[in-house]
Amino acid sequence: MKQADADGRTEHTSLPGEAAPWIEQIPAVIALFDETLRCVMVNAAWKQEFQALLGDPVGRDFDAVFPPACQFLRLGLMRALMGETVTCEPDSAFSADGSACRFGARAAPWRDCQGVIRGAILICHEVAAGAEALDLFPNGFGETMRDATPAELLARSLEANAILLRSILETMPEALVVIDLRGEILLFSKAAEAMFGFAASEVIGRNVSMLMPEMAREEHDAHMNRYRSTGESRMTGRPRRLIGRRKDGSEFPHSLQIAEAFGGGQRMIAGFMQDLTAEEASALQVEQLQRELAHIGRVHEMGTLASTIAHELNQPLMAITNIVQTAAALLERSDPAIREATVKALNEAGQETLRAGIILRRLRDFLSRGELEKTFEGARNLAEDAISFEAALARYRNIHCAIECSANLAPILVDRVQIQQVILNLVKNAVQSIGKNGTVRIAIAPEGNMVRFTVSDTGPGVPEGRIARLFDPFSTTKTEGMGLGLPICRSIIEAHGGSIWYEAAPGGGASFIFTIPLFHEESDDAG
Ligand code: ADP
Repeated sequence: MKQADADGRTEHTSLPGEAAPWIEQIPAVIALFDETLRCVMVNAAWKQEFQALLGDPVGRDFDAVFPPACQFLRLGLMRALMGETVTCEPDSAFSADGSACRFGARAAPWRDCQGVIRGAILICHEVAAGAEALDLFPNGFGETMRDATPAELLARSLEANAILLRSILETMPEALVVIDLRGEILLFSKAAEAMFGFAASEVIGRNVSMLMPEMAREEHDAHMNRYRSTGESRMTGRPRRLIGRRKDGSEFPHSLQIAEAFGGGQRMIAGFMQDLTAEEASALQVEQLQRELAHIGRVHEMGTLASTIAHELNQPLMAITNIVQTAAALLERSDPAIREATVKALNEAGQETLRAGIILRRLRDFLSRGELEKTFEGARNLAEDAISFEAALARYRNIHCAIECSANLAPILVDRVQIQQVILNLVKNAVQSIGKNGTVRIAIAPEGNMVRFTVSDTGPGVPEGRIARLFDPFSTTKTEGMGLGLPICRSIIEAHGGSIWYEAAPGGGASFIFTIPLFHEESDDAG
C-alpha cells in the first residue's frame, strides 16, 4: 500500500520543506497521525497546550498518548483514515461540570501526491487551558512509549507537504489570509472564502483593507507603515477581536491572530481568523435566558412581597375601619348640619378602606394560586438546564456539580421554568454556602407516587436555631440577600402539589429536598 517516500529527508520531528515552518506557526493545535494512528508530528501550538500533560507524543500510538476520555478523537481519526473530514464531538454532549465540553476537534485525511491516504490530521480547538484541561487527562496513562527509528518515522510520514498544508488549511476552523508587506493578499484559504464571501481569485493581489470596514482601514494602514519601518508589530501574539467586512458589505466580528512567515526569500504576514458571530450570538442568548429566569425570579419575589404586604396590612386596615365606624356612630349624636357631612365622609372612608382590604385579599389569593404552564419534562433535563446557568461560576470556584438520576424515571408534569427556578435557587444557595472547593449534588429518585429531588452541598449547613425560620420571607444571613429565595421555592413546589424541606446532609452540609407528584391529579376545588 505504501508509496515510495524515502527521498533522503532526515528530520522527523518537524516537516521538511516549505510546510514545516508554516504548520509550526499555525495557531491551531495540530497533530498528524499515520495510518496506524501513531503520532508523526505536532506543531508549536500543540506543544504549548499539551506537552506538559501528555509528554512528547511523536512516535507513540494514539492510545498511549490520550486518556480513555478521548475516544471520540480516536473515532474521528479513524473516519478520517477512511476519507472523511469530520468534527469530533465528546461522547456525552453535557456533563454537569462541563468537563466533556472542553474541547472539540476536526479530523481530516492526510493524502500524499497520489491522493492515497497516508494518515490523519487532527486539529483541536477550544482547548481549555491549564488546570481545567488537567481533569481530562488523569495521570498515569500512556506509559508505553515505543521507540521508532527516525528512518521508520520518515518512511511512515512526510511526503506531500503542499498537499498536507492545503488539507490542514482547509480543515482548520480558522480562515487564513496571507499578505505581503504592502498589504497585498497572497493567499486566501477556503475558510476565508466562506467567511468573507469572496472567491480567492477576487482578492488575490488586492489590498487586505478591502476585508475591513472603512473605519478600520486608516488604523490598519498606520499599523502596516509602522511594521514596514520598524519590523515591529503590535498585532502578533494574542488573538484580538476585529470587525470584518463581507463581499455583500455586511460586517461581522472575528478574531485575528497574526503570525510572521518567510517564503521564497519574502517576508509575509499570515492572519488566522475565526468568525465570532455565532459565538457572540449564543453568548447573547444565554444572557437573555438568564435575564428571563432572573425576571421570573423577580416576579415571584414581588408576589411573595405583595402577599406579605397584604397579610401585614390587613390588620391595620381592619382597625381603621373599626375606628372610623365608631367615630361615625359618635357623630350621629352631635350638631345635625356638621353631622350629616362628616358622617357621609367617614362612611366613605370606611368603604374605601374595606375596598382596599378586598383588593389586597384578591391579590393575595391570585398570587398564591398562580397560573402554571405545565408540560411533561424529564427530571434530569430540568436539573441539567438549571445547573448550566451556575456551571461557570461553580467551575471557577472549583465546585463540582453532579447529577445522579434513577434510570427510567417517567416525565413529570411541571411548569418547566418555575421548577428550574427552584433548582437554580437551591444550587445557587449551595454554591454560595460552599464558597470554594466542594461539591453540589442533585439526586433524583422516585419515592412512592412522587419524584424526590435532593440538592445537597458540602458547605457548613444551616445552624439548628435557624432551621425553623428558613422558609420565612426576609430571613437571610447574607448582606446582599433578600431572604425570598426559599419562600418562593416553597410557593412554587406547593403549587405543584409537592413539598419542600431541609435536612442536614450526612457529611455535615445542607440538603434541601422537594417532591413533585409523578402522576398529576387535577383538583377541582375552587376554594
Ligand atoms: P437569600 O439567599 O436571599 O438569603 P434564601 O431564602 O434563598 O434567601 O435563603 C435564606 C437563608 O437560608 C440564607 O441566607 C442562608 O442563611 C440559608 N441557606 C439557604 N441555603 C443554604 C445552604 N445550602 N447552606 C446553608 N445555608 C443556607
